[in-house]
Amino acid sequence: MPRYYMLKQPTGSVKWDYFLLYIAAKLKKFYIGTYYIPRYQVLAPVFRITPGTPVDLRALDPVPEDVLRESYRMLCVECGWCCVRDSGAFVLENELKDLRDYLDRPLDFTWVETLVGPLKVYHLDLDPGGKCIFYEGRCRLPPEKKPIICLIHYCSLFAERQGRKYVKIAAKRVGEKKVVPIYREVSEEEFRKIVDDYLRWRRGERKR
Ligand code: SF4
Ligand code: SF4
Repeated sequence: MPRYYMLKQPTGSVKWDYFLLYIAAKLKKFYIGTYYIPRYQVLAPVFRITPGTPVDLRALDPVPEDVLRESYRMLCVECGWCCVRDSGAFVLENELKDLRDYLDRPLDFTWVETLVGPLKVYHLDLDPGGKCIFYEGRCRLPPEKKPIICLIHYCSLFAERQGRKYVKIAAKRVGEKKVVPIYREVSEEEFRKIVDDYLRWRRGERKR
């Protein structure tokens, strides 16, 4: 039986956070989504891992299936915000091979120290304004080829749970540092309307 694991939380430490990304990139084909998990009050990328696959428990925690069922899976409506202005887009050396067929220029890299040693981080935010080189109105990479950071990072505005759609209506402070989202269920029709409005606002066609 496959088991579910969530990536542990980033801390802001480069050494730890890039280690998490490195492990997540190795498990890219098992990634099933980024979830807000109310039981643990965290937003975390989740992997459905087949038996026999090595799991690094320094970076991953198991998640019971019933906990995942009550969680919200993030949805991206592809407004482009993450890819255009100051995107900060990058790809790790252990996933660069996924991009080989799509690259039209050499990439610069920076060395980053991680828990598993130094890692090359290649910059993709090379177009004007920090736009990602793969953005042409939308990402031109197939989903399974996208850098892990693009797959797991979400604005958390839109979500689904058990086939139903949700939108974030507020955020609540929990404890000193944590802020968690609050979602409201909406009909498919309402969801489409909210998304259309949101996309028009992002394109500057509508004032908030
Ligand atoms: S801001 Fe949200 S909807 Fe827009 S590209 Fe990023 S994750 Fe997707
Ligand atoms: S690789 Fe694709 S999803 Fe990632 S920043 Fe670039 S255009 Fe956006």
